Amino acid sequence: MYSRFVKHVSFPFYQWKQGSDYLKRLKTFEQSQWWTPDRLREMQWQRLRKIMDHAYRNVPYYKEVFANLQASPEDIRSFDDFARIPTLTKQTLQSRLDDLMATNVPRANLHRGVTSGSSGLPAYYVQDLAGNRIRKAAGRRLMKMAGYDIGLRIFYFWRASPYTILGEKVVSSAEEITTTPSPLVRLKKAAYERFGVDNPTLRVDPTMLNESQMTTVHRQLQRFRPHMIVSYVSALYRLARFLESENLLDVRPDSVVTSSETLYQHQRSLIEKVFQCPVYNRYGLQETGMVGIECGEREGLHYNQEILHVEYVSRASESRQLVITDLINMGMPLLRYETGDSARPVEGICACGRGLERIGEIEGRIIELLPTRLGGHVNGQLFATFHWIKGIRQYQVIQTKIDAFKIRIASEKSFRDSDLTPMLDTIREKFGQDVEIEIEHVDSIPFTKGGKYKLVVSEVNKTREGNLHSTS
Ligand SMILES: [Zn+2]
Repeated sequence: MYSRFVKHVSFPFYQWKQGSDYLKRLKTFEQSQWWTPDRLREMQWQRLRKIMDHAYRNVPYYKEVFANLQASPEDIRSFDDFARIPTLTKQTLQSRLDDLMATNVPRANLHRGVTSGSSGLPAYYVQDLAGNRIRKAAGRRLMKMAGYDIGLRIFYFWRASPYTILGEKVVSSAEEITTTPSPLVRLKKAAYERFGVDNPTLRVDPTMLNESQMTTVHRQLQRFRPHMIVSYVSALYRLARFLESENLLDVRPDSVVTSSETLYQHQRSLIEKVFQCPVYNRYGLQETGMVGIECGEREGLHYNQEILHVEYVSRASESRQLVITDLINMGMPLLRYETGDSARPVEGICACGRGLERIGEIEGRIIELLPTRLGGHVNGQLFATFHWIKGIRQYQVIQTKIDAFKIRIASEKSFRDSDLTPMLDTIREKFGQDVEIEIEHVDSIPFTKGGKYKLVVSEVNKTREGNLHSTS
């Protein structure tokens, strides 16, 4: 009842009062997702030409790029031509930030964002506000494929950003200074939070959660009764395991959206079993916003094709890297931006009937490819199969040297080192019989600064580390 009131009455009223075109844009995206692939491709091309032209005229970095190519946007006549433009790495984004900003977009119309970055140091990106409004509507359109609607209660099992920008300074969110507002301001804020926001939300930071706190989260969920859960894969998997082991199986959302990490099959199965609803995997980057999500068919992720262009770029010894062009960020055009993630396209039209192209399962962060002495790489997904070893609560495989591994294990009392034999045999088979393996027993596996838990870490190929990033 309340959610219908928010959807049909209060939220549209607030939007109208603010002069927002969000609902109109959402509707437009809900229509264009059903267009034919050709029509969508044509729209994508027109927008690509526009942003290329804009970048060429107004962005110092791209003036250089086109000069080096001895070309202008008129010479780029097809998507294949476009692929001649060099890719943009995260390192370049950080080192040339000022040169990547468009000179003709007023600074007041820009939003500067910050991610936690791979090294734990803040990393910047810039988006123009007009583009962000479009991005929000496009993102919500994706979420609707997974059952989202205005007014529904959403549980975010998600870490708040560790950084906030205050003026020109980046501070940790904990340091942010707040002032006490007047009673009228507080009342307006309370009314807005009740009726003006699109969704009532419950937000819990999963990063440092121990088991007794998970009991508290369960009680909060019983009261809140979420329609939808949005979470990191590993955090929700951990919660699901806890709920299962404690037989607390009364949290029944209509859908679960997982994000930011590879979703392994055993994780999807357990989450679906515990919450008795489908899991939809989502993929995004802070720099470009939400990229794609699974529809009900769950055969690949439909991506926001009206505002993004996606390519799969092969290089020797790597699987195909996802490279993304943002078609609407006029403030800082990102052409052929390297995501550091690998994936393959899904060919053909989805059975759901949407014309939007699909990205296949994100096959894992490129960092999860582990180099071997023979010169090849082994995909870290290999290690996802050992969750079934009895007595293991959590584990993490770290390749410390090309021929040395450390395995961290948080185990039950029943666990014996000999239970690990299948895993050790696999490592030796793939990496050499004389490979060194150290086993370290821990109470729990720590999350990274970005709030994630990495199943497989390679410390060998440090040069690729710059490609790691925080996604949303
Ligand atoms: Zn579909």
